[in-house]
Amino acid sequence: MLEKLTRAAQESSTDYLGAEAIVDSVIDEISSTLAKEDAGLSTVLAEAAELDARMTAIITFVVPFAICVLIFLKSRLVAATVGPIRTIVAGLEKMAKGDLALRLPAMPDADLDWVAIVFNAMAERLQVETRHRETALTKLEFVNLELAGQTSALQDRTRTITILSRMIERFQAAKTRDELGYIIKRSGPLLFPDLCGRVQVCSSSRDILTELAAWNDDCTSSSGIAPSDCWALRQGRAHSVKHGDGDVTCEHFTVPQPWSLCLPMAAQGEVLGIVTLTPLWIDGAATPQSVEPMSKEAQDLAGAISEHIAMAVGNLKLRELLQNQSIRDPLTGLFNRRYMEESLSREFSRCTRTKEPISVVMLDVDHFKQFNDTSGHDVGDTVLASVGRHLRANIRSCDIACRYGGEEFMLILPGADLESATKRAEAIRTGIKQLTFTVRGEMFGSITVSLGVACQDATEGSEDSIVEAADEALRQAKREGRDRVVTGLLQSAA
Ligand SMILES: [Zn+2]
Repeated sequence: MLEKLTRAAQESSTDYLGAEAIVDSVIDEISSTLAKEDAGLSTVLAEAAELDARMTAIITFVVPFAICVLIFLKSRLVAATVGPIRTIVAGLEKMAKGDLALRLPAMPDADLDWVAIVFNAMAERLQVETRHRETALTKLEFVNLELAGQTSALQDRTRTITILSRMIERFQAAKTRDELGYIIKRSGPLLFPDLCGRVQVCSSSRDILTELAAWNDDCTSSSGIAPSDCWALRQGRAHSVKHGDGDVTCEHFTVPQPWSLCLPMAAQGEVLGIVTLTPLWIDGAATPQSVEPMSKEAQDLAGAISEHIAMAVGNLKLRELLQNQSIRDPLTGLFNRRYMEESLSREFSRCTRTKEPISVVMLDVDHFKQFNDTSGHDVGDTVLASVGRHLRANIRSCDIACRYGGEEFMLILPGADLESATKRAEAIRTGIKQLTFTVRGEMFGSITVSLGVACQDATEGSEDSIVEAADEALRQAKREGRDRVVTGLLQSAA
């Protein structure tokens, strides 16, 4: 068509009619084509209208149906997954709170079922681990308790050993029985706080036991008992009796005891006394049957303590014997001159400090040399021993009687003024005059003594001057005819 129009244009300059024909043919063709297009368009429009009608139908019926289907499917999907998930979440929460016994059931969904299986495996393992941990903790607590008990027992034992060691150490430094008793009285309640303890020692005559120390004493055992009153002393070994066991009980118990333990004390083969232990219990608060018996450990400790006390008593006795031998005159039993000098110095200082008087009496047996020569030395010794006994028996416990030398004696009377000292000297003179002596069955006549007395007050003199004054008074008594008491004049120390 375009070529025809181009040719018509070229021919229009030369052949107008030809060109017009060409144009007409082209118009015809166009009209024909337009008619065809109109027909096609109508067809398309018809098809479009049909399609539109179909789409309208689809929109009207199919879409709601599809939405319903989708809603249905969604609800089914939610129902299938949310329930198991909630179960899993609930299981996890319970596990977090410590419930390890919980197990999840099988899940409808494969993935969720796998989660449930893993959850159950984890719970199982945790439960096993927890059981192991609890078992280990229980064992640990048991071991801790056992260890705490052992530690406490060890501490108690250490404390006991410390107290015992300290007590033994103090024993070695004790100088008198009173000090020994004091140490036992202090240590006993620490070693046996729940027991009544009493330590009794044999007197020098060995026919009676006197109390050395006691603690928590409820007077269930009498003091001043005879050795035969205690089965431990009779048998020479520990005597333990429990209430109701039918064994013999010692007579020194004043009331029946739930149990008792008597331990004999002996050292160097000599029986020295007993240690008695009974429980500390109050009538009405407990019955004899309900009182705990003494443990084996406590009995062993008591045995060790009694041995140490026995050793201390034995050592003290030996020390006292040696000391007596060193400070006493064996013939008269009075203190010797060395001890007199020490004592005079000590007592003089004490009386000066306390502003008390102190007196000294010098005593000499009249005509002793003549008596000794004519009757024999054994008679002379008998006379001196008798004078010594008389002096020991007729002085106060605080006075000190000494053998000054030969037949001369000296008395130190702390706290005594001149008047009371003179009276005492006079009483001694008359007492000795009444003494009689029998040697080898032969009776000897009475003897007389001369005495010189001097007193030192708080302000004057010295320990030497008082002895010199008493000695001078004695010489004066001799000069004046013997058998008399003369008071001396104290020379001023200045
Ligand atoms: Zn006894």
